[in-house]
Amino acid sequence: MNKPRIASTGSSYGVDHLPRISHGRGSYLFDVDGNRYLDGSGGPAVYCLGHAHPEVNDAIREQNDRIAHAYRYLFSSDACDELTEVITERTGGHFSNAIYVSSGSEAVESCLKIALQYHAARGEMSRRRFISRRRSWHGNTLGALSVSDFKTRRDSFEGSLLDVSFVSSANAYRLPEGISPEGLVAYLADELEAEILRVGPEKVAAFIFEPVVGAAGGVVPAPSGYAEAIAAVCRKHGVLVIADEVMCGSGRVGTWRALEHDGVVPDIMSVAKGLAAGYLPLGAALYSDRVGETLVGAHGGAQTGHTFTGHTAACAAAVAVQKIIAREHLLPHVLERGARFQRELRAAFADVPEVGDIRGRGYFIGIEIVANPASKAPFATNLKVHADIGRRAFEAGLICYPCTGNVGGTAGDTVILAPPYNASEEELAEILSTLVRSVKDAVSFARRQEAL
Ligand code: PMP
Repeated sequence: MNKPRIASTGSSYGVDHLPRISHGRGSYLFDVDGNRYLDGSGGPAVYCLGHAHPEVNDAIREQNDRIAHAYRYLFSSDACDELTEVITERTGGHFSNAIYVSSGSEAVESCLKIALQYHAARGEMSRRRFISRRRSWHGNTLGALSVSDFKTRRDSFEGSLLDVSFVSSANAYRLPEGISPEGLVAYLADELEAEILRVGPEKVAAFIFEPVVGAAGGVVPAPSGYAEAIAAVCRKHGVLVIADEVMCGSGRVGTWRALEHDGVVPDIMSVAKGLAAGYLPLGAALYSDRVGETLVGAHGGAQTGHTFTGHTAACAAAVAVQKIIAREHLLPHVLERGARFQRELRAAFADVPEVGDIRGRGYFIGIEIVANPASKAPFATNLKVHADIGRRAFEAGLICYPCTGNVGGTAGDTVILAPPYNASEEELAEILSTLVRSVKDAVSFARRQEAL
């Protein structure tokens, strides 16, 4: 009999055969052949409470016993209302408007549409254009893809995407030509303002950015003062600020909102991955009261949503996840232990000059590999050092998240670590030692390939 086939989306490490999953327990996954994998990146920074948490599974079961999904446009529900209360509380009262969707892409798509609708409601129909940043990732639906600068994922769709402006990413390790670290924030704020003025402020709807870049850059936190500076430029020109916190939000960086760190409140924000921790698919577009009141005034509310908007069991899962995180004080733990974990990584890689940069916040850590530490030149793209690290780690029983950061030689190969917030000390030690071995072996292998 032929094996059943599902549409293939490829393998993170370029292997032909994916192991078949059996089950997960806490920070570990097990395949049907009995192999064990430690989840050092929570898959793609999703599984923030590990796998098969009994309390989350109970909450889903209890909700399903009542009703799995009540159509959002006919009924409200305890689960959705409670989740909105939790989010309102976690975001300091700034975001009490939420549209619950089923993925990060849908969350971003909703954010873009809310921005357009906000301007339409104010009679500014000319504000249709988005500004985003280079080396960014916002999702796979056409709107979210349009604001993403990720060449390999865009190529097949060019010509059908929205016309978007892209300004520089904020990367202190890779400064724009001729710019000093001290001058970076002013340079980026000026560049954004120049682009708004070039397009015409009356045509710009919103600026979208990841407060800590994920998949497109290998965890790149913006330099201090950046978010404040760009928010001021946007405010000056009536441009809305959209923070895409799909990957870095929901506590991943040790605060519930990543931008809490910068003291900045965006107008609209997306969250997803850690919100329901992967127990059920859930994302959300959150928006401020100012935006919400404008939408209600003009159209009775946001004109976006899907059949599964506000999925009841997914909201119940998220409530359970968020309660556990609060009860176990996991966010301060993630912030403090993550900083220490970075120091441990730096010490462990002290004798590997090819580890050019270790950066991040909380349990969102990126490691950038370069061929030449002085010039920061990457290894040749065809060596696929990031994928080789991922494959070696996987074979040694560790899941990490290799990023195709090495686009056209403009950045090194990067690997992301994003452990579960409740990972034990022993598990963190195992993540560290297996990753260090995998990086060292991959770098030695790349050097041998170069010498051939
Ligand atoms: N935004 C960001 C910042 C992301 O990292 C991702 C996913 N990696 C998305 C949006 C899209 O989310 P999803 O894959 O759930 O559609």
